[in-house]
Amino acid sequence: MPEGTPRGAPSVPDVATEGVWLRCIECSHDHPPFESALYTCQQCGALLEVRYATYPTFDDFEGDGVWRYDAALPFADGGPNGGGDAAEVVSLPEGDTPLYRVPRLEDSVGVRSLRVKHEGMNPTGSFKDRGMTVGVRVARELGVERLACASTGNTSAALSAYGARAGLETLVLLPAGKVAAGKVAQARLHNARILEVDGNFDDCLDVVRALTDRGEAYLLNSLNPFRLEGQKTIGLEIMEEFHAEEGRYPDRIVLPVGNAGNRRPGRGRRPDRRGD
Ligand SMILES: [Zn+2]
Repeated sequence: MPEGTPRGAPSVPDVATEGVWLRCIECSHDHPPFESALYTCQQCGALLEVRYATYPTFDDFEGDGVWRYDAALPFADGGPNGGGDAAEVVSLPEGDTPLYRVPRLEDSVGVRSLRVKHEGMNPTGSFKDRGMTVGVRVARELGVERLACASTGNTSAALSAYGARAGLETLVLLPAGKVAAGKVAQARLHNARILEVDGNFDDCLDVVRALTDRGEAYLLNSLNPFRLEGQKTIGLEIMEEFHAEEGRYPDRIVLPVGNAGNRRPGRGRRPDRRGD
């Protein structure tokens, strides 16, 4: 057991690959991570989360960006920093976004040390890039040839860019007339195939889930358990940078959400509605 692994670390199920597996958040059934494309529990249909045999400490991290944290991601040395197989890396790179000091805002809200993380500095302009670098890396592991998502904007831009970097075909389903032109332009520039659906986001998600359930593409909406692994690096970056400046960790991290896909989905939440 590596140094830093807390007592009570999980026992590793037989289905794990190099200490990584997928566990159902409702019934705790374990699934192999990279045998086939899985988005929900095969026993009960609830969401899956990535589990690890060991927990890293901050001393285990080196390099820059999202893959600095590869000790906490499904691929140890999977990123450009880690000396892994460079051909498998799907990085633009992403993460390492600025954490701004905001003294005037501190004064106006009465907080002593306030920072603001600028996730718009990621390659396609949103935090979604953090999840896509991991999700598309998993797609490579699975050997799929086509990626797909339903989107109202940022997800499609991120998937199209990372799909292009990986040399994979990307299919994007958008609600017709409801997506900002700039975001559609990003997907087009990266050569994604764009299908406009006469309906809303949920209608698009239904269509893309039908396609991915038939095995015609790999789903990269946030129903995909691996995207959240990349997105969690926002918190790790905040902790490390704040600690470097202040000598302590922040008391609170406030995270704005659209549909809360980046928090651990709670019990009772509909399993097919983690969002985009
Ligand atoms: Zn289950």
